[in-house]
Amino acid sequence: MRRLPEVFENNRAWVRARNAQDPTYFERQLKAQHPRYLWIGCADSRVSPTTIAGLEAGDMLIHRNMGNLVSTTDANSLSVIKYAVDVLQVEHIIVCGHERCAAVRAALGPSVWPPMEQWLAPLRAVNRDHHKELDRCEDYDERWTRLAELNVAAQVATIGLLPTLIFAWQRGQKVSLHGWLYELGTGLLRDLGVSRSGPDAKVLGD
Ligand SMILES: [Zn+2]
Repeated sequence: MRRLPEVFENNRAWVRARNAQDPTYFERQLKAQHPRYLWIGCADSRVSPTTIAGLEAGDMLIHRNMGNLVSTTDANSLSVIKYAVDVLQVEHIIVCGHERCAAVRAALGPSVWPPMEQWLAPLRAVNRDHHKELDRCEDYDERWTRLAELNVAAQVATIGLLPTLIFAWQRGQKVSLHGWLYELGTGLLRDLGVSRSGPDAKVLGD
């Protein structure tokens, strides 16, 4: 079996550089984590959260999957959100999609292989719910990006309805939700304007 020596060499070089810059860094890492942010992003190799946000290890709890989805039947994402809110008490939950996302493209096309097709169900639902708007897009690339944006907004809405968030807001905990899109061609993050710091009026019964 190949042992990927270059990765271990990189790791040792990183440890040397880190210790030279900050001799107590690893000692502090042992104690606890106090991230302010939970990042829910796509697994895409080009969208590395701490790198594009200019943050360090320990600053952000990170959950990634194909298409930055939060499904109410997915124990993985629900567990991360509950841990982030109830235990770590993060102040911000960010759902970040990106341009040219393979999961979004798959949801625009015919059925794919299992279990991917099952995983993509929430994305296909967003596609169906907004098909009139998406049909007005001028070309495929515009449709691809717009579905990525709509998907982020849908995931933010889903998170806002989770019992974890509803209970946190009821007890007065300060936690905000945000939806962003990462532009691969420029490296810039774009705020999609779907932030919220409390439950939907519908949840409150107004
Ligand atoms: Zn993606």
